[in-house]
This record gives sequence, C-alpha cells and structure tokens, in this order.
Amino acid sequence: MSNTIQAVRGMNDVLPDHAHIWAFFEETVRDWLHAYGYRNIRMPIVEQTGLFKRAIGEVTDIVEKEMYTFVDSLNGESLTLRPEGTAGCVRAVLQHNLLYNAPQRLWYMGPMFRHERPQKGRYRQFHQVGVESLGFAGPDMDAEQIIMGARLWKKLGLSDIALQINTLGSSEDRARYRSRLVKYLEGHLDQLDEDSRRRLHSNPLRVLDSKNPAMQGIIEGAPRLLDDLGEDALKHFEDLQSMLRSAGVEFEINTRLVRGLDYYNYSVFEWVTDRLGAQGTVCAGGRYDGLVEQLGGKPASACGFAMGVERLLALMEEQKVDIPQAAPDAYVVHVGEAADRFALNAVEQLRDAGVRAVLHCGGGSFKSQMKKADQSGARYALIIGDNEAAAGQIAVKPLRVPGEQSMLGVAETADILKQR
Ligand code: ATP
Ligand code: MG
Repeated sequence: MSNTIQAVRGMNDVLPDHAHIWAFFEETVRDWLHAYGYRNIRMPIVEQTGLFKRAIGEVTDIVEKEMYTFVDSLNGESLTLRPEGTAGCVRAVLQHNLLYNAPQRLWYMGPMFRHERPQKGRYRQFHQVGVESLGFAGPDMDAEQIIMGARLWKKLGLSDIALQINTLGSSEDRARYRSRLVKYLEGHLDQLDEDSRRRLHSNPLRVLDSKNPAMQGIIEGAPRLLDDLGEDALKHFEDLQSMLRSAGVEFEINTRLVRGLDYYNYSVFEWVTDRLGAQGTVCAGGRYDGLVEQLGGKPASACGFAMGVERLLALMEEQKVDIPQAAPDAYVVHVGEAADRFALNAVEQLRDAGVRAVLHCGGGSFKSQMKKADQSGARYALIIGDNEAAAGQIAVKPLRVPGEQSMLGVAETADILKQR
C-alpha cells in the first residue's frame, strides 16, 4: 500500500455505497428548485484570480489564505479554483448580459475549493448548492429564499435546523456603523487578538465574526448595527420578519451575524444545527446589492445563499434519514455457449422494456454465478442454460420476493420484473 498514490488531503472520494445518498440529495434539490422557478447555470471551476479578489474582498479569510491560486504557465495569468459560486455566477450574468430585460432566478451545484485545515465538516474540496436572485430589490425575495430553505429541510427529512437572521443595513448605515465600531474597538485595543487588530481598519465588521473565545466578551459589548438603522433598512428588515411570521417560519435575530464576504447588505441569514459540532452552519446567505456594480455591471439588486452539501449529508446521516440503495431488478446467470448468446440478447430486450438487469460476466459455474446473483441484491435471478436458450425461455427465480421459480418468455419476464 505504501506505494499507492492517495487523494489530496481534504479532498474526498464518494464511494458507490454513498453515491445513492448524493443522488437522492441532488434529485431532491433539482425538484425543489424547479418548484420555485429557478434555472440552472453552470460556470467554470477556474476563474481569473482578480474576480475573487474583487468580489469577495481582499481582507477576507477566503482571499487572504484559502484560495488555490496558480499561474497558468502558458500565458502567465493568475487563476484560482473557485472557492464559492456567487462571484462566477455574477460574472457570467454580466458577461452574457442576462439582466438585459428580466430579473433572474438562478442556481448551481458543484465543487468549491478552499485551503483550510481539514476536519469534520470542513474540507478542501467541498460541494455547495448556490441559489442567486438578481434584479429583485424587495424583502419578498429575501423571504422567498428563506422559505425555500425551510421547505428543503423538510423534503430531505431533516429537523433541528434553526434560522438566524440579521440586517447589515444599507451601505450608508453600514458606513456609519463602521466608524462607531472602529471607535469602540480602538478603545479595547489591548483585548483584540492579532487577526482582529489587522482587520480593525480594513474590515472591522469581520471582528464580530471572530470565533476566538477570548474575543467573545468584547464582541458582546460592541455597539449594534440594528440600533442605528436608516428608515429603508428598518422597513426592509421588519417586512421580512412579518413575511416569515406569516409563512410560519421560525427565526431568531442574531445581531452578531455578519457574513464573511464583503458584498452583503440588508438581510443576512444562516441555518444552523447543533447536531454537527463546531461546523454547524449548513446554509448561509443574504442580500448583496453592491456586487453587480462592483464587478462592472449596471447597479442591480441581488440576494442568494449557499449550502454545504457535505454538512447536510452528515446531518442526514446523524438523523438516520434512510435512503434505500436501488438494487437491480435481476441478475442474469448463464452457462453454455448457446445460453451466453441468448442471454446477451435477452437482457438487452429486457432493458428495452425498462428492466434494470446485471448480466453476469466472466463465466464460472451455475453455483458461483448464483452466489453473485444473491450478493447483487437483485430481486430475481434469471437463469439461462442451453435448454432455456433453445426454447427461447428464461427460468425466473425469486430471490427476495415470495413465489416459485417459473419458465417464462422474455416479454413475460419483463412484465414480472417491472412490478417493483
Ligand atoms: P465557516 O464560517 O464555516 O467557515 P463560511 O462563512 O466560510 O463558513 P460560506 O462561504 O458562507 O461559509 O459558505 C456557505 C456554506 O458552505 C457554509 O455554511 C458551509 O455549510 C459550507 N462550507 C463552507 N466552507 C466549507 C468547507 N471548507 N467544507 C465544507 N463545507 C463548507
Ligand atoms: Mg470559512
């Protein structure tokens, strides 16, 4: 084993025994998004490094230390594996002028890359489902996206995911708050850790996001943005709350909730569970009205969210959501030259009729093939010897369903197998 090459640390294989859970998740997500009229967009995994610097902000964990950045040796361009999807999505929307005459409801799903310390719920290649609405300014869209989340958890069979919301105000509110916060933090300089000191002037709101336990006291005492909101932001936030109430979605206001990314304003929200230890945020989002303009477009409102697929799957596992693995309908056992030829054709006809069948490959005795049939999980073994081949028939033997073995033609066999 010592000579085999291993996967990159923090980048995981999904093995066949787990793949059906991913497939269930992906199908559920697609159905759910279609129910709300969102359309799929697929962006490249690699983008110009400058896109993320501009969209996410230079003074963020992601851009400062988490990006996989490399130089394209052919032309010297700096490129980066996408650490998140919003930047690329907005880039694509602008590049192809999708906002020309209609707002857009968009979604994507795929791998993201961040150079973090791998641990439970935190990987270097992980997957997100991202949902973005562009061109919608009102709180009705914020409410839609939050209500969507509540519905998805139900569809996935999940409970214990609590909603926290906050507002970051308008960009003016935020600027005003920023100077109040800086003044407060400067008054407590001796208590700030190294990260926070560095962020004090470049990105002070991020100090509130610090996970350092030693910082929690000073964060508790900080002035609250919520206490000094302009009229617009206050109304937006109150409208959002009343829409959530009337939809029956419970929430908690967490005034310390700020997003790690710089382009958020107005509503921010997180869906959090206490069942996964420290990595409990399964979905995070909010409004980012400033981003489209920041990326060179005409100003346009926007809001969106991203969920961590691995964390949601871990929660499904933790909560014992049972997703049965689809087994084949039949396993085809065949011995003899004429039988081999007949089996090859018969199994294709069965598949034409919609049957899921595994054809035994590699020869061997009836006995050893029957063992494989059993291990496959198939409901039936289809047994073909030279006699069956000559008669154009199949011996259909139930493995996991009641009933006797019977001799049937191909079409009758298909009818039986399709009664799942
Ligand atoms: P955290 O505070 O946990 O680092 P974040 O603010 O960096 O999260 P976002 O950029 O908002 O996370 O990404 C949205 C979601 O993607 C997160 O809520 C989480 O569920 C998931 N996620 C983020 N980073 C990782 C990772 N390294 N591994 C697995 N999932 C992740
Ligand atoms: Mg992070």
